[in-house]
Amino acid sequence: MQVYVNGKYCEKEDARISVFDHGLLYGDGVFEGIRVYAGKIFRLDEHLERLYESAKAIDLRVGQTITEMRDLVLEAVRRNGLADAYIRLLITRGVGDLGINPYTCGSSGLIIIVDKIVLYPPEMYDKGLAVITVATQRNLPEAVNPRIKSLNYLNNILAKIEAINAGVEEAIMLNSFGLVSECAGDNIFAVRKGVILTPSISMGVLEGVTRNAVIEMAREKGREVKQLVMTRHDLFIADECFLTGTAAEIVPVVKVDGRVIGDGKPGPITRDLTETYHRLTREEGTEVGNQ
Ligand code: PMP
Repeated sequence: MQVYVNGKYCEKEDARISVFDHGLLYGDGVFEGIRVYAGKIFRLDEHLERLYESAKAIDLRVGQTITEMRDLVLEAVRRNGLADAYIRLLITRGVGDLGINPYTCGSSGLIIIVDKIVLYPPEMYDKGLAVITVATQRNLPEAVNPRIKSLNYLNNILAKIEAINAGVEEAIMLNSFGLVSECAGDNIFAVRKGVILTPSISMGVLEGVTRNAVIEMAREKGREVKQLVMTRHDLFIADECFLTGTAAEIVPVVKVDGRVIGDGKPGPITRDLTETYHRLTREEGTEVGNQ
């Protein structure tokens, strides 16, 4: 494995950053998780766009243009020679002093890791996942907006801890109004009477690339998709429920807070969208090439 760290490629064991990087000291930075399928990067430009939007929102001045970043990502994937992979792309605030002032930092840091990822046990895709709502609320949009994919994931980690301690794999997070926002690491969808429902971005949600792909696919199939205000009740009475994310892809949910969803098996619309998503990820994408 060849990891890109601040302008150089190194072996995994030698991939290190300064302890004075504010990415480490304060979680001050932004990142993306991107997938490569059969030698093609899925929705690379959407991921890069979100990365630069996240950076803009925290006034992080990225040392590379988006075009330069695109080339660096392509090169990193090529060097690692994996046809199917997961790219972790991180921009840190850079090296500064021990105060929180981000403007003391020099140039932004850049890390590109190309590896494999398995998020949930494979059988969960066949049987479906049980999830619970947790007490940890999703960050207020007025505080750290969940639209920013920042290196500070403590809000999500606290939710994940609650889920794992309760014996389930994923946590549903509510916003400060008690409305459904998203999961610790995925967006959430429900299906009721054939209509696909998902919390709108203003509920305090990351605008997932997979979320957008699913909305697009469903609409192309002629299905109605609503982005709206959702309560736990909407999940309890749903015919189907599923989660979406780059790493997770589409995961069926069969139990929410002990309530069985639909007939307790992954639903037909979830299965159909999953099949189409698998096809889409193999068909479209930016060719990595081999030079
Ligand atoms: N919400 C959160 C909190 C996430 O961390 C992620 C990504 N893991 C998602 C949603 C899904 O986003 P995407 O489909 O772009 O991976």
